[in-house]
Amino acid sequence: MILGHSYLSSLNPEGLGTPLAESVTSYIPRLCKLHSISFSTFLSDILFPKMGTLSLVNSIKRGCSRVYTRPYAFNGVSNFTEKIIHTLELLTLQKNLIYITLLPLRNIISCQNVFRHYRAWCPICLAERKDRALTIYEPLVWTIKAVRSCLVHHISLRTQCHKCGNMLPVIARHVQNGFCSTCGHWLGLTDTNNKYPVDPIPDFDSWKDRNIGELISILPETINITRNETLRTVLTEHINLHYKGSASAYARSAKIPKATISRWQAGTALPSLENLLKISYRSQTPLADLITKGRLQKDAKVFDYQDSESLFPASPRKTNDFDYAYVKRHLESVLKSKSENPLSMTKVAENLGYTKKTLYKHFYVLCRHISAKAACHRKARKEQRLGQERLFVEKVAEQLHIEGVYPSYDAIENAAPKKGIMRSHESRDAWKNKLREFGFENGG
Ligand SMILES: [Zn+2]
Ligand SMILES: [Zn+2]
Repeated sequence: MILGHSYLSSLNPEGLGTPLAESVTSYIPRLCKLHSISFSTFLSDILFPKMGTLSLVNSIKRGCSRVYTRPYAFNGVSNFTEKIIHTLELLTLQKNLIYITLLPLRNIISCQNVFRHYRAWCPICLAERKDRALTIYEPLVWTIKAVRSCLVHHISLRTQCHKCGNMLPVIARHVQNGFCSTCGHWLGLTDTNNKYPVDPIPDFDSWKDRNIGELISILPETINITRNETLRTVLTEHINLHYKGSASAYARSAKIPKATISRWQAGTALPSLENLLKISYRSQTPLADLITKGRLQKDAKVFDYQDSESLFPASPRKTNDFDYAYVKRHLESVLKSKSENPLSMTKVAENLGYTKKTLYKHFYVLCRHISAKAACHRKARKEQRLGQERLFVEKVAEQLHIEGVYPSYDAIENAAPKKGIMRSHESRDAWKNKLREFGFENGG
C-alpha cells in the first residue's frame, strides 16, 4: 500500500443538504476504490488503528468481526460513529462528514432499530447516474429501514440482487457502490430505455419516505440542537387543541405510554424515529418541521389511530448478543437464493461476521442445508468440467490423428487452454481409448 503516513484523498461527500445525502457506508467504499483497497483492509489497516480500537483490528484480521453486522455503527448516532467521522475527517481533511450520518440528530431521536442490515437501492437512480457519468453512490435514506421507495422514481427499493438473488449486507469485505458484493453484478438497470415495472407505492409509504428524506436534507440545520423544544411545543399544542390538554387522553389514543410522552416533554427521553413519524402524522406537521420550525396547522385533522396503527408495525425485538433474527433471515435467504453459484458455509460465515461454529450452534439444520446445497453444486460443476475436458481431449486427439501427428500426452496437454487437463482419470481414459481406436495397441 502506498498510503504510508499521508492523508487519504480529500473526497467530497455527495448530495449534502439534500434528501439524497450520501451515507458513510457509501463514502468509505468510494475511498477504498480510489486507493485500490478492500473495505476490510481499510478498516483493519487504516481506520481502526487510527481510532485506536485494536480489538476490532484483530477481529477483522481473523475474519469474524461483528462490525460487518452493525451498519448502524457507521451511519448512526453513537460515540463509535462520532469517532469514525472524526477519524475520517482527519484522514480526508473533509469538514462535513457528520452530515452523511444521522449524528446531527443525536439529541433529537433515538436511533435504535432505525437502520437496515441489508442494502436497498433504486436500480433507476443507479442507472441514471451511470448514464450521465456521475459518481455512483448510495444515499443515507436507502439505509433507513422505514424507507420503502425511491424519492425520485417512486418505485420500491430493491433489496435482492437480480442476478444471484442474494440480499446484500451493508458492510462486507468487498463492497462497491452499485455492485453486488456476492456476485459482482451491476445493481442498476442495464437498459434505461426498457420500461421498468412500476409497482404502486401506498400513499402512506410515500408520505413516510418523503418526510424522512426531508429530515435528511435538513441535517445541517439540526447540528446545534441540543434539545428538541419544537417537539415539545407541537405536542403540547396538539394535546391542547384536540385532547383538551389531557396528555393521558392523547396517550390512550396514540397507544403510547403516558410516562413516555411525559419524558419526551420533559426532555429526559428521546422519541424513536417511528414515534416521531406517528406524532408528525397525527399532528399533520412535516417531520422536518417537528424539529426545526414546528408550527402546528390549526385545522389539522386528528387521524383515526385505529387505522394508522397498522401503518406502524411493531419493531422486531433485538438482542445485544447474537443477532438471532438477523442471522436467521440471512441464512434463509441464502438457502432460498436461486444463485447460479450457491455460497459455501465458509463464505456465508465470512459475510455475516460470525464463525461457522457459532452459526452451526444456533442453526444446525439451516447450515447443513446450505452446506449440502453448495457441495451438490460443486460436484455438478466438477462433473460438467470433467465432461467438457474429456470432449476436448477426444477432439484434439482426432484432429492430430487426421493431421498425421501422433496424439501424445504432451501434444494434447499443450493444445489445452490451461495446464493440467490430462491430470484427471477421465481425460486420460478418453485419450487412451482414442489411441486404441486409432490402432496404437496399448493405448499409450
Ligand atoms: Zn430512483
Ligand atoms: Zn449478486
